[in-house]
Amino acid sequence: MIARVEPLLTTRKLSGPFDYLLPEQPVRVGSVVRVPFGRQALDGVVVDLADRSEVPVEKLVRASAVREDGVPAELVRLALWMAAEYCSTPARALSLVLPPRGRERTVLWAARSGEVDGERLTDRQRALLDRLPGPAGDDLPALRRLEARGLVAIGPRARRRAPRTDPAADREVTLTAEQETALSAVRAGGSHLLHGITGSGKTEVYLRACAEALERGKGVIVLVPEIALTPQTVGRFQARFGDTVALLHSALGEGERYDEWRRLREGRARIAVGPRSAVFAPVPDLGLVVIDEEHDASFKHEGDPRYDARHVAAERARRAGATLIAGSATPRPETWRSLPRLTLSSRVDARPLPPVRVLDMRGTQSPLHPLTRRALAAARKSIVLLNRRGWSNFLTCRTCGKVWECPSCDVALVLHRAEGAIACHHCGHRERVPDRCGACGSLAVARHGVGTERIEAELAETLDVPVFRLDADTAGTKDAVPELLTRFHTAPAGLLLGTQMVAKGHDFPDVTLGVVLDADSTLRFPDFRAEERTFALVAQLAGRAGRGPEGGRVLVQTASPDAPAIEAAAEHDAEGFVAGELERRRALRYPPFADLVRIVCSASAAEPVRAAAARVAEAIAGATGEATEILGPAPLFRLRGRERRQVVVKTTERAAAIRATGAAVERAARDRGLRDVAFSVDVDPQ
Ligand code: ADP
Ligand code: ZN
Ligand code: ZN
Repeated sequence: MIARVEPLLTTRKLSGPFDYLLPEQPVRVGSVVRVPFGRQALDGVVVDLADRSEVPVEKLVRASAVREDGVPAELVRLALWMAAEYCSTPARALSLVLPPRGRERTVLWAARSGEVDGERLTDRQRALLDRLPGPAGDDLPALRRLEARGLVAIGPRARRRAPRTDPAADREVTLTAEQETALSAVRAGGSHLLHGITGSGKTEVYLRACAEALERGKGVIVLVPEIALTPQTVGRFQARFGDTVALLHSALGEGERYDEWRRLREGRARIAVGPRSAVFAPVPDLGLVVIDEEHDASFKHEGDPRYDARHVAAERARRAGATLIAGSATPRPETWRSLPRLTLSSRVDARPLPPVRVLDMRGTQSPLHPLTRRALAAARKSIVLLNRRGWSNFLTCRTCGKVWECPSCDVALVLHRAEGAIACHHCGHRERVPDRCGACGSLAVARHGVGTERIEAELAETLDVPVFRLDADTAGTKDAVPELLTRFHTAPAGLLLGTQMVAKGHDFPDVTLGVVLDADSTLRFPDFRAEERTFALVAQLAGRAGRGPEGGRVLVQTASPDAPAIEAAAEHDAEGFVAGELERRRALRYPPFADLVRIVCSASAAEPVRAAAARVAEAIAGATGEATEILGPAPLFRLRGRERRQVVVKTTERAAAIRATGAAVERAARDRGLRDVAFSVDVDPQ
């Protein structure tokens, strides 16, 4: 027998698997082994076992040192599928499903072992025996003496490092008729879109479906957007299911992550809850996958492979024969079209959604409409969304027109006044705020546009409630976000101001006013998803306001009051929005009516990038037919000092186009003439 091993190399230039003689210890598909590779030794994953190799046996070398934890075989197969589906490499995909490094923490555990009747014991010894079984702790010397008399047994025992959480209080409820209908549809299996506004009882449906899966002896994966922004959903699963819930997310300590992974792998925990990477949780006998807030952009991974956890979840569920529920108040047009829909049409408490008023900002100079000012002054608690951080957007010289740009990215630098810096939002480059123009010496520097920092300053001055700012600048450490949200939650009065982070799943019943400033900022993006994002952002924020008995309202400031996304959001009309959006996309041949693949070539010099992009475009065109259209190559702005060009593939033959792209990129990556060029492939770009 030989083992086919995929060494965990990140290069695109080599592709495995490679054959090795079996190590001393037993291996199976998914074992993590050490293999000699050239002059180095590497970790690798066994992807197959075979009877013979095409390599002569005397040339084969032996794999060694098998790691204790391996990857479940089904996750190896999922990773290999993912490598092909995202034009990545098996090694890069496998590195996403590897068991976390670590080992179990053990403590010395003591238990009674002998008969104590007739033994002469001090009071202290009796008390000690009474507290057993338990960790030995500081009593170890005394316990050892009892052990010597055969009264106590002491041995190592695994001790779980549990993530810190705050479970919500659980409530027993009787399902509404709509919830019952949804649950029975889910019970029949298959994949479903659960569409319901915030507060319509979607989570309760997930919880019930989850309980039924557990009863059938099945495991569950629940995917949520960033945990820090949605602690309430996690808390409700823990409240209902206790320790059988394992939490998997990036803020866990190494030991916690290891223990949670092991608990799932061994079936001691049956429900994995976490953000996108939890789609790789080692849950045996998967019976249900839930994707909460399925519209959320965080489900797309930005590293290589650029996987979409929603797509991977669907594939994993399909392979396992598991049921899938994707839930949202603002589903993506793709999901709307591809999955049968279950609807929860009103809030459980029958409270109507807050009225939304659109404020036309055309011709207005001030960042705040007079009505917004008045409403903010009158509201005790409100949320203000402005999807742009910093003080002002960009700086120009009033005399010569110079724009301050990042030296390595060809984008304007954003003013952060508190720091006294202008910063690049792409690479992090910072420089001091200029006091004069470097080109002409003029002292007249103009600031354009308004960001969260400036609105914060303005509001803090005019309002007498505290302003809490939540954006990438204030969310520095891992605890900063939950802390800030808790402070806002417990404050008797206050204003939560920030980027899209403020529109996520929080439930603040006493918020009576929601405001969206410059709602077009997302609409202006040169991207076919601009409409969808704008609709979701406004509608999600509307879902945050008026969840309590006082009700609430929403103000949306925009310079394009007639944009369909804004009109539909103001009417709370997800169905109407999606219908219009699907028509638009059908006409333009955008997803879900075609698939997109984006290839970005980059290098420090322009010429090899140009050559690489042309080569890739040509190769894909040559390998595909009429169903595939190639857009570009087109130049992109320079990023982190690298020249970039992109090719976009638009196709109705997804599999063929992905194969052609993978082959073209692999060939170009191996071309010595293009060795300085990096290739990044994004299938289903966000
Ligand atoms: P969503 O996930 O759609 O925002 P939730 O499931 O969180 O909605 O439900 C909103 C609130 O209503 C929660 O406090 C939940 O406990 C409660 N709830 C859900 N279903 C019912 C029901 N059938 N009867 C009473 N309360 C319910
Ligand atoms: Zn100037
Ligand atoms: Zn930059």
